[in-house]
Amino acid sequence: MIKNKSNMKQEKHIIDKKTILLLFILFLVLITLTVYWKYDSITTNSPVDTSANSNTMQEKNETNSIMVVEENPKPETNGKITDWNLILVNKNNKIPENFNVELEEVEDGHFVDKRIAESLKLMLSDARKEGLRPIICSSYRTQEKQEKLYSDKVKEYLKLKYNQEQAENLASYWVAIPGTGEHQTGLAVDIVSSNYQILDEEQEHTKEQQWLIDNSYKYGFVLRYPTEKKDLTMINYEPWHYRYVGIENAQYMKEKNICLEEYIEYLRKFE
Ligand code: ZN
Repeated sequence: MIKNKSNMKQEKHIIDKKTILLLFILFLVLITLTVYWKYDSITTNSPVDTSANSNTMQEKNETNSIMVVEENPKPETNGKITDWNLILVNKNNKIPENFNVELEEVEDGHFVDKRIAESLKLMLSDARKEGLRPIICSSYRTQEKQEKLYSDKVKEYLKLKYNQEQAENLASYWVAIPGTGEHQTGLAVDIVSSNYQILDEEQEHTKEQQWLIDNSYKYGFVLRYPTEKKDLTMINYEPWHYRYVGIENAQYMKEKNICLEEYIEYLRKFE
């Protein structure tokens, strides 16, 4: 009896242990099933969810983009047509009567807008570090100076037997009509090679121009009158005339191969 009792006790003990083990296994199975079910529901539903989400996102984006186009358009640069460095001066856009500029001498009696002086000096000194010899041959011009240059050019054509109107028209492709020239802004410079100082298309082939054409944008300058943009700039090809527009604008214009007229037109859409 005693023996039996102790056996029973032992059996009860074993049962208890077995029950706990079973419960534990059951618990584990339940956990596994729950986890599996959850995972399954995520993977099964996820494509639907994602597409549902993306649809919603798309709808949201569409709503946003509609709003962006209508209410808050953004150009690909931070440029604004009212920025001082984007002033457009050409035959159709005269320099404002009250235009004022604070000048700084860069070198050899050449003055530019003081805000671009450092960039210009850096560009020239970097070019010289490459063994090149660029020199400034024209910079800021007063109205009087521009008038003198223009009337001299008109006289040249008059001597060639053109009439006054023809002479003025022809001259305007080489020397800006007073009030329509960038040199009056203090933001433009003519740079030539010291080995070849003639202002003709051959200038393009000098090492100095090749370097400037490739690198000037890094300093915020653009070749202002490219040969393929003559119809837009209304100025003949001038592979020596550089205009400061700021680094970001210059980089964008170079990348897109657009002249200032085109860039301003582009920015105007976002006003
Ligand atoms: Zn020039």
